[in-house]
Amino acid sequence: MEVLRDPRQMTTLARERRRRDKKIGFVPTMGYLHEGHLDLVKFARANSDLTVVSIFVNPKQFGPLEDLAQYPRDMDRDLELLRPLGVDVVFNPEPAAMYPKGFQAKVEVAEITKGLCGAFRPDFFPGVTTVVLKLFNIILPHLAIFGEKDFQQLATIKRMVLDLNLDIEVIGRPTFREPDGLAMSSRNTYLNPEQRKTAGSLHQALNLARDLVRRGETKPEPILAAVRRHIDGFPETEIQYAALVDPLDLKEVDRIKGPTLLALAVFVGKTRLIDNMIV
Ligand code: AMP
Repeated sequence: MEVLRDPRQMTTLARERRRRDKKIGFVPTMGYLHEGHLDLVKFARANSDLTVVSIFVNPKQFGPLEDLAQYPRDMDRDLELLRPLGVDVVFNPEPAAMYPKGFQAKVEVAEITKGLCGAFRPDFFPGVTTVVLKLFNIILPHLAIFGEKDFQQLATIKRMVLDLNLDIEVIGRPTFREPDGLAMSSRNTYLNPEQRKTAGSLHQALNLARDLVRRGETKPEPILAAVRRHIDGFPETEIQYAALVDPLDLKEVDRIKGPTLLALAVFVGKTRLIDNMIV
């Protein structure tokens, strides 16, 4: 397993493998890896000849009041987790190598990023699409794998790939969860033991909503009210949004007619957690 920090070295290697008709599979991450990340990596490894994992805490996708400085980092641990999976290259650039002096480009996908997380984190999606397009151009993947846990992010990347004619297959993978249903996230480490218990309420609320839909409820209001009531019953929770949206365009629905995404963002103490489920 090679660790490359220089974007030019990364591209040289990728070009050389492409010349030999090798298929490049890519998993972008911000590190502090958990089983959810590792599942994406295993998928990449099983479906490509060269597996590249990037570890880059992208400053552009954090707002000025967000947790860029505190975001957990442990490169040695991450490398130990990746090595046994047969990863070929870990790309771990310096921020200055990705955003040298004078950098000013910005990639934006307009509509699909307006609602849900985009409404509360205006810097997030432009930061993500800008860095992911850069990573695509540096790593030259045939295949890129993302988690459905960040559903709006996955939809935005798919839109960018389509709109900008990128010759890359984007694959979404199901959310990996802790035994109590909490979606795995590097940010879960921020939770104290009490908050960790409370965090299980997000998945419980999603299940509750799914059960209501299964029993025939089609109106968003009672479903979202039940979700809110459930989460509000736990200490230190503050719901940022709970929405039922069309999984294709992420627009809110006024009736449930087919597969619908229930998306949640909830503060538990100061930690912001997101989760979603197709109901
Ligand atoms: P991050 O390091 O949080 O930026 O995530 C890197 C990639 O891992 C993204 O595509 C995420 O959607 C994905 N991911 C994060 N958490 C999970 C999870 N619990 N299950 C599956 N994929 C995940």
